[in-house]
Order: sequence, then C-alpha cells, then structure tokens
Amino acid sequence: MTARFEFKLAATDGRARTGAISTPRGQIRTPAFMPVGTAATVKAMLPESVAATGADILLGNTYHLMLRPTAERIAALGGLHKFMNWPGPILTDSGGFQVMSLADLRKLTEEGVAFRSHIDGSRHMLTPERSIEIQALLGSDIVMCFDECPALPATDKAVAESMELSMRWARRSKEAFGERPGHALFGIQQGGVTRELRGASADKLVEIGFDGYAIGGLAVGEGQEAMFGVLDYAPDMLPEGKPRYLMGVGKPDDIVGAVARGVDMMDCVLPSRSGRTGQAWTRRGQVNIKNARHADDPRPLDEDCTCPACRSYSRAYLHHVFRAQEMISGMLLTWHNLHYYQQLMAEMRAAIARGDFGAWQAQFHAQRAEGDIEPL
Ligand SMILES: [Zn+2]
Repeated sequence: MTARFEFKLAATDGRARTGAISTPRGQIRTPAFMPVGTAATVKAMLPESVAATGADILLGNTYHLMLRPTAERIAALGGLHKFMNWPGPILTDSGGFQVMSLADLRKLTEEGVAFRSHIDGSRHMLTPERSIEIQALLGSDIVMCFDECPALPATDKAVAESMELSMRWARRSKEAFGERPGHALFGIQQGGVTRELRGASADKLVEIGFDGYAIGGLAVGEGQEAMFGVLDYAPDMLPEGKPRYLMGVGKPDDIVGAVARGVDMMDCVLPSRSGRTGQAWTRRGQVNIKNARHADDPRPLDEDCTCPACRSYSRAYLHHVFRAQEMISGMLLTWHNLHYYQQLMAEMRAAIARGDFGAWQAQFHAQRAEGDIEPL
C-alpha cells in the first residue's frame, strides 16, 4: 500500500497495456472496468458483492449526489466511502455530462452551468471550482475536471469552441484542486471526432499537467466505428506513463476494442442497467432472459461462469423471477453481468501480460459469433 497515487505499466502488447494504479485505498489493476454507483449504490448489489465480482474501483456521480443527499451531508457523515460502505478507491465524475443531459432549464456560460434540479426544481450552479469542491467533500480518490461535452453530430466550429471552453475549465479545475497527496486529478480530452482538435486538447492538458487523462466526448451516439476511428489516434496523444480513461464505455466488444487501442480504464452503467431489464451478457453474446425459450430450460445462463446466478440457478428460474418482477431477478442478473465484465478484464490483463492479446481477441470474437446455446 502506498500513500501516493502512482501508475505503473507492467506489460504492453501492441498498443494494449496492463499495469496497476496504486492509491492509499488500494490497488486498481488495469485495464480496469469501473461499475457505476450513481446514487451511492451499485443498484441491486451489496458493496461486498461488487468487490466479489473483482471490481477494484467504483464510480460515483457528482450531479446526483450534490442534489441528493448533498455533498455537505455526505462529508458530515464521514465521506462517500464510509457512507456507502465501499472502502476501496472511488472515482467521481465532474457532473458536467449529467448536468447537460438531465437537469432542467440549464444555462451555459463562461462561469459554469446554472440549472434546476430534475428532482425538485431547486436552483443550482456548477462551476469548475464547485465541482472540485463537491468531489473533495465526497472524498473521491480520482477527481475529474469539470468539462463540457457537446452532443454529436455538431459543426467543427461548435466542437472547437466547446473544447476550448473545457480547456479553460480544466485549468480552473487544476487551480481549485491544489495539492492533495494521495488523490488524483484527471484532465479530459475533448475535440469530438476531429483529429486536429483532439491533438490541440491533449497538448493543452499536458501543458497544465494531470495525474491521468480521460478521453471524453465519445460514446454519445457516434457509433462504434467512429469511436474506434478516434481511438486509433487519441490515446497515443496522451502521456504514456499516465492512466488513460475512456468515459462511458461500453458494450463488451467496445471495451475489448478500446483496450486494444491503449485504454486503461472504463466505466458504464450497461452491465447493471441491463441486469434490471432482463438482459445478460455472456461470452456468447447477449441473452434476453424474458424470452419464452428459457421457461423450461434447466441449464445455467453460462455453464463456464462461476457467479451465483450461474452456479445455483437455472435459466428457467431466472426467466420466472424476471416475469414475476421479483427483486432477486435484478440482483442475480446484475451480479452475473458485473462478474462477466470483470472476468473479461482479468482475461485481457492476463493475455496482455502473456503477449498473446491478438489470439485472445480472435477467440473472444469467435465465441460471440457462435451465439447463445441452442434451445432444448
Ligand atoms: Zn454468471
């Protein structure tokens, strides 16, 4: 255990990297997938169950927590780790993305974003300084710069202006963060799908200097091909010796493609959200447990999976509890999905360390192409 925030690369294979981030709250093995604990909970999971799936770090949402129960209340109760009973590292987003997608009557200025809460209509203001203050009150281990993420498609001019605003906000975020040993501040590269803007954004962030660098503004509806197009060059614009975090990604094949392009960290609500809507992710692709074909099927979701849903329950049972809207349905499928995602990360880390990530990727795609097991 170290008192400092530190990233060490252990091996690379092509552009793919594996290593570890050390923090005072524990180690984060990379490439890492971060489950999302929006409102101080990964929905349907106990924190110890999330840890049992293999997650080293969780993500918390500034926008949700500042509105309810408020950052000041969480700080008074001992911080987010104690409040939600998660002793490991936590990364918090800046609220920038969610304020633009969820809040009512928002007004964007040089200063920040004024808005009304989507919960009770109360008025709030998020600025770089306020976002950093909230993340400090929460006790976040990895703090994100406050940025603006333009919805795509947008004109080059709009994307450029937005990126430049985000870079001014990145500097203000850095000044507001100050010196906090053991805690990290990540900058966020913007620039849409334009290489020149991505390069200008990376240069500006490196000039300011951060503990890690995120690739923002992707997974906002541009599609996998366009996203991979950006990832073909964007990670290499960021410092090799610092962690690279792709925000809001994604489906299993998005994650594999991002790791292949040099990404170290990712987060997404998909495995937990899908678990509550009857969708399971397996090595053979997506399974819809609602489907009538599972009603009499005594086999597990995935016979090779060691999660509680696959070890102790049949497809027929999972189908039944989903149809009956029993809470255990969301609990079991979320556990399975998070377990599958962490299994994927562990396999990729091992393959990169062995130097056969290419062969591993071929097998990953071949298994998915087979599709789900035949109905009985
Ligand atoms: Zn399972």
